[in-house]
Amino acid sequence: MTRIKLITFDLDDTLWDNGPTITNAEILTRKWIEKKVGRIEWGNFDDFINLREDLIRKDPSIAWDISKLRKEIFKKKINHLVTSSEAEVIANNAFDMFINKRHEVELYDGVANALKSLSMDYSLGVLTNGNADIYRFEIGKYFDFAISSIEAKDSKPNRPHFDKALQKIDGISFAEMLHIGDHQINDIFAANQLGIKTLWFNNKNTKWVQAFEKPKDFSDWNRLPEIIKELYE
Ligand SMILES: [Mg+2]
Repeated sequence: MTRIKLITFDLDDTLWDNGPTITNAEILTRKWIEKKVGRIEWGNFDDFINLREDLIRKDPSIAWDISKLRKEIFKKKINHLVTSSEAEVIANNAFDMFINKRHEVELYDGVANALKSLSMDYSLGVLTNGNADIYRFEIGKYFDFAISSIEAKDSKPNRPHFDKALQKIDGISFAEMLHIGDHQINDIFAANQLGIKTLWFNNKNTKWVQAFEKPKDFSDWNRLPEIIKELYE
């Protein structure tokens, strides 16, 4: 078997449980905005999807620039209540608040130790569709690079994240890469079809529902270095 040289990681729901963090960030940011402008109809998930599609039609980069998407949505929600320059300022400040809160994550048990250990034997990279910045965390020091949808100008499961990862490490091939993530399509299907080895993080006992063979999975970060050693060395 080809030896692995580079391990790439998804972030949200792979290194931490993202739901509680985003919900908290969203609630606090909305409260803050309402304090400035009064009550707002935030709408339900369908409204959000429609609004998103609307915005993407006018500016296709919104599809992968989720920070811009969020700012534009804030503006849309308040621009009938304030002047457009006020809306701009409020949306920017609200986004700053959101992005700070969005980084208040709790790493899964064992993440820091596993990354520290793996970083001694492999190059490590981040491939995320989200807007968390790994370098805002202590564990950022274990990573050689991070590619978000902003750099990729696209989202997983499309291939730009993976192609860019290849360019970060000299003389490496997809066969020498291992990608680890929680998402069956965005992470596992995406990497698998490029010939990248995959390891599925499944700590919620989720059923494998893809048409191709389930990859090896794991649920405990404390065991990850050992699992990688067993599988690939
Ligand atoms: Mg994820």
